[in-house]
Amino acid sequence: MALSEAQQQEIDALRQETAPTRRAVVPALEEILYQPFPLLDHGFLRVIDYMGDDTAIVQAARISYGKGTKKINQDQGLINYLMRHRHTTPFEMCEIKFHAKMPIFVARDWIRHRTANVNEYSGRYSILGKEFYIPAHDQVCGQSTTNRQGRSTPLNDQERNRVLEILEADARQVYGHYEEMLNADEEGNLIDPNRSGLARELARMNLTLNYYTEWYWKIDLHNFLHFLSLRADSHAQYEIQVYAHKMLEILKLWLPYTYEAFMRYKFNGMHLSEQAIDVVKKVIRGEKVTQESSGMSAREWREFLEQLNLEEQAIAA
Ligand SMILES: Cc1cc2nc3c(=O)[nH]c(=O)nc-3n(C[C@H](O)[C@H](O)[C@H](O)COP(=O)(O)OP(=O)(O)OC[C@H]3O[C@@H](n4cnc5c(N)ncnc54)[C@H](O)[C@@H]3O)c2cc1C
Repeated sequence: MALSEAQQQEIDALRQETAPTRRAVVPALEEILYQPFPLLDHGFLRVIDYMGDDTAIVQAARISYGKGTKKINQDQGLINYLMRHRHTTPFEMCEIKFHAKMPIFVARDWIRHRTANVNEYSGRYSILGKEFYIPAHDQVCGQSTTNRQGRSTPLNDQERNRVLEILEADARQVYGHYEEMLNADEEGNLIDPNRSGLARELARMNLTLNYYTEWYWKIDLHNFLHFLSLRADSHAQYEIQVYAHKMLEILKLWLPYTYEAFMRYKFNGMHLSEQAIDVVKKVIRGEKVTQESSGMSAREWREFLEQLNLEEQAIAA
């Protein structure tokens, strides 16, 4: 993760400070505030700030003048109801702000979520650090044959080692060229006093996508849950899933009722098409169903069986 001593001291100093407030605080989140959680080989995620707790959702839903909360089971029931019925605006009353460090190719997927506020480290203003992502051995996999966007099983030792060698050598080479073009090293020290060096905003374009970038990222809870449903999902790229899964852990600390409702009704819940519901009804009635009679495409059928963990023979026989 490679935080400098000065960065670590700043974090430690901030973590020593407390302030009295009338605002809702969540002790479990206060406990981890500012603390960086290492992810991948050089990345991290840390919570910088947040607004609201589970009761803020309940207060907004009840348009309360005061606390607006009732018995715990009633509040939890209301959050479940709101989640189940897609009554989303009360969830927009909470917000969270992260500081994340991730490879550029992960940031490219992440930035597609337009409903967040982002401020990224400037490679025009500062020299980018010599930190690049090299996947762990078990992540160096072949192309999936069933999912064009996915990976399959790990490569054999020989092929994997060659891949890692290429990734490492290329990343080092482009950084060497980056320093040469800048005429400065990573710390900004001048290399050759007789050269002016290329502008940072141009020199950076030669770096590979596995170089790390950083940003502050703020999002309201409704859109945060949408992000998690897409990026903590097993179909998302592993490297962004790693960040999304850490965020799920943080969500659980921050808003335990919302986390439960989200996992129950959204994340582990399922959306079924008209045809899929029809198939489920037929299977319950003990009728035979095949892909051809289901009205689903071969791919849809395969996904449906996977979703419900069904054996084709069991329902067609
Ligand atoms: C597994 C996976 C594979 C993907 N593959 C590709 C790919 O191959 N190529 C590619 O380009 N992208 C790809 N994406 C990105 C994907 O298409 C979305 O751009 C990304 O997930 C952001 O989703 P979103 O627009 O719902 O989120 P956000 O931008 O956070 O928006 C949240 C919601 O706000 C609303 N919204 C936001 N902006 C608008 C708008 N302008 N108009 C109307 N409604 C709006 C929508 O309801 C939207 O769902 C992939 C994503 C995933 C998870």
